[in-house]
Parts: sequence; structure tokens; C-alpha cells
Amino acid sequence: MKLAILSRSPRAYSTQRLKSAALERGHDVKVLDTLRFGIDLSTEEPDLTFRGRPLSSYDAVLPRIGNSVTYFGTAVVRQFEQMDVYTPNTAAGIMNSRDKLRATQILSRHQIAMPATVFVRNRGEVSSAIDMVGGAPVVIKLLEGTQGIGVILAPTKKVAEAIIETLHGTNQQVLIQRFVEESKGKDIRALVVGDRVVAAMRRSAQGDEFRSNVHRGGSVERVELTPEYEETALRAAHIMGLRVAGVDMLEGTDGPLVMEVNSSPGLQGIEAATELDVAGAIVDYIADQAGFPDIDVRQR
Ligand code: ADP
Repeated sequence: MKLAILSRSPRAYSTQRLKSAALERGHDVKVLDTLRFGIDLSTEEPDLTFRGRPLSSYDAVLPRIGNSVTYFGTAVVRQFEQMDVYTPNTAAGIMNSRDKLRATQILSRHQIAMPATVFVRNRGEVSSAIDMVGGAPVVIKLLEGTQGIGVILAPTKKVAEAIIETLHGTNQQVLIQRFVEESKGKDIRALVVGDRVVAAMRRSAQGDEFRSNVHRGGSVERVELTPEYEETALRAAHIMGLRVAGVDMLEGTDGPLVMEVNSSPGLQGIEAATELDVAGAIVDYIADQAGFPDIDVRQR
């Protein structure tokens, strides 16, 4: 199989692992900088250029599109789709998962349990929105935050209103969400590849921090998911249109509450916590879907 990994960070752990997993399996693999593509719409057939020259032909593409290049990156992925190159994550899937409001709207239409969430724009609507999700303490999330930045736990309704007003004042959009206290600063990350959860870990926040992001000093441990958590992770990823995804869930009293579905999940934390070959599982799945059964793997 000839595989293109779209990434702006060739040296990042995840990119390196995916590349070596593909090489180990005898595939031809290139890491291509997402921003060096040209989307060629000048001819009848959809085409792509790379560094100013026509792109050679690929069997599959694995997009690792960073937040800051979503618009252009998804356009490149869409072009690959139009050229009939297999991608586990479609442009639409990546777009869906990038926007917390859009993701919440889609998942809530498909009976995926999530923490109660309300989105409002007007000052007059803020107070009732906080009440609707159960009152303070309440979680406020910037629509475009990542790695826990822009996720705030407001202890009282007054503080919550002041924060939301300030953010609205600087034209930033926020979600107002029930604080899932029973999850006690922990969350579950399930790594979905195709129809399987190939690895899962529990992240725990440090000290009195409520955010369990590793970037915020959280620790990780391997977990075996119950069928309910596994099923929820798979459904959430598939509903979003993603075949490779990291699904984040809080452990609610009545079961899993999906917080987020990530289309370019980092591999370092989860491979370290689980000692599993997640990169290998991703490459094997892509090869299989692109019509390249894993002969190399079976021979080993
Ligand atoms: P990001 O995309 O920036 O990581 P998240 O929405 O995943 O933002 O939130 C960051 C962390 O904050 C989560 O990993 C979780 O530990 C905690 N958290 C987020 N939302 C809630 C909530 N509603 N209740 C309790 N904890 C939450």
C-alpha cells in the first residue's frame, strides 16, 4: 500500500510511530506537510499538487489535521476523497468533531449520553441556561479550546455569569455544561480504530485540578472498558464520521457521558499507558480498508 500521512509535525511521536508501523509492515509511506498541497480545480478530474508538482498516486491517506489548519486541511482531505483515495476520517467527520457545538448537536440527536449542555449568545439567556444544566458549580467551555485551555469550573452562579459575560464581550462563544462531579477529575479516553476500541486509558487530574488533560499534569492508567463504554465510544466515533478517533468520556452515575471525539488522537500517552501498538492497529485497518490485506503481518 502507498500511504500518505498528512501532518505538519514529521518529528512528533504520533507521526513517527505511524510511519514506522507502516514501514515495518512493508508499506510505502510518506509524511506530507498539509500546507504544501495545492488543490487543483483547473481540469475535469480533481487533482492535487504537492510542493508545486503533481502528486503521485496514493492508495490511502491518514489525515492528522491540527486545529490551526482545519479549513485548508479538510479541503485537502476532501480532494483526496474526490480522487477516490481511501481515508479513515473524512473531511466532514473532521469538521464535525472540530467544533464542540456542532459535535454536541450531532451526538445528542443520536442518543449518545453527554453532560447536559446549553449554548446561548445573549446576556439575557445566560442565567436560565445555567439553571437548565443544574446550576453552579458549572463548567464553561470555549467553543474552540483544546488541551483543557478554555475549560473553566465556575463555583457560583455569579462568577459563571461574570465569566460568560466577559467572554461574550470579547466575542468568544461558550458552552455551558453540567459539572459532572461524580467523575472526580477523571475521564476515559477510548481509541477507536474501525469497529474496535483498540486501547483505553483513564486519565486522572492532579491535586484539586478538575481537568484530567495530560497537558495539565494528569496521570494515566490502562483500563479495560465495559461493553457499555466500548459501545458508546464506537457509536460516537461512527456517528461523527470517523474511523480513527479518540473518544473522551466522563464516568457518570448512569454510565458513560461523551465529552469529545478527537479526529487526530495523540498516540504517546495511550501507547505508554497501555503498552499496546496503537499505531500498528491504525495502519493495519487502513491497509485492510484500502484493499491491502496484511500479508506481511500474517507472515511474521
Ligand atoms: P479539551 O478539548 O480542551 O480537552 P474537554 O472538554 O475535554 O476540553 O475538557 C478538559 C477536561 O476537563 C476533561 O478531560 C475533563 O477531565 C474535565 N471536564 C470537562 N468537562 C467536564 C464536565 N462537564 N464535568 C466534569 N469534568 C469535566
